[in-house]
Amino acid sequence: MVKGRNGMILILLGAPGAGKGTQAERLVEEYRLHHLSTGELLRTAAAAGSNLGKLAKSYMDDGQLVPDDIILSIIRSYLDEHQGEGILFDGFPRTVAQADGLSGMLAGRKVVTLALEIPDRMVIDRLSARRVCRSCGKVYNTASGIMPHGGRCNCGDGGELYQRDDDHPETIRKRLEVFHKQTEPIISYYRRRGALRTVNGDGAPDEVFARIKKALG
Ligand code: AMP
Repeated sequence: MVKGRNGMILILLGAPGAGKGTQAERLVEEYRLHHLSTGELLRTAAAAGSNLGKLAKSYMDDGQLVPDDIILSIIRSYLDEHQGEGILFDGFPRTVAQADGLSGMLAGRKVVTLALEIPDRMVIDRLSARRVCRSCGKVYNTASGIMPHGGRCNCGDGGELYQRDDDHPETIRKRLEVFHKQTEPIISYYRRRGALRTVNGDGAPDEVFARIKKALG
C-alpha cells in the first residue's frame, strides 16, 4: 500500500554503489516523494553541454566532488520550486558544509536520514559491473545474470546500456576515498541530531527495501 508522506524530507546516504539509485526508485513510489539525484542532474547537464554541465564534468570524471556553492544553489532553486513538498535527496548532501547549508534552508522541517551501509570491496565489484540505461537511467549489473539481450534496456525506449565515465577502476578508487574523507563525517553529523537510521545494503534490492521500510517504521 502506498503510504504517502507528503512533506517528508528523506536523505539517502551511502558510498557510491551502495544502492541509493535503486532504492530511491522504490522509495519515491512508496512514499510519494519528489526525487532529486544531484549526480543524475549533473550528468544530464554534462550531456547537454551547458556551462554547469561542463564545469561539473571536470570534477566528476576525476572522481572529485563538485564545489559546495554550486550544489547548494541547485538545491536552493529546487526547494523553491517544491515548497513544503516531500523530497528524497539522493547523493546530497555530500559534505558537512552541504548538510549545514541544507538545514539552514529547511528551517525546522523534519528530516529523516537513511544510511545504506556496504563494505568497500562490494563498492568496487558493484560499480565495475554497473551499466546504466542512457534513456531512463535504470541500473543493471553485468554480474547479476539478468542483463537484457542486445545491450538495450527493457524500458519502452530500449535505451543503450552504458558504463558511466566515473565507473572505471581508478575513478572508483578516488570516489571511495572522497566518500570516506568528505561524506562519511555527515553520518555522525545526522546521528548527533538523532535523525539517522542505518540499513545494511548488502542483499537483493527487494530485501534491502524491506529493511528500509522497517527502519522508516
Ligand atoms: P552520484 O551519481 O551520486 O554517484 O554522483 C556522481 C558524481 O557527481 C560525484 O562523484 C560527484 O562528482 C558529483 N556529485 C553528485 N552529487 C554531488 C554533491 N551533492 N556534491 C558534490 N558533488 C556531487
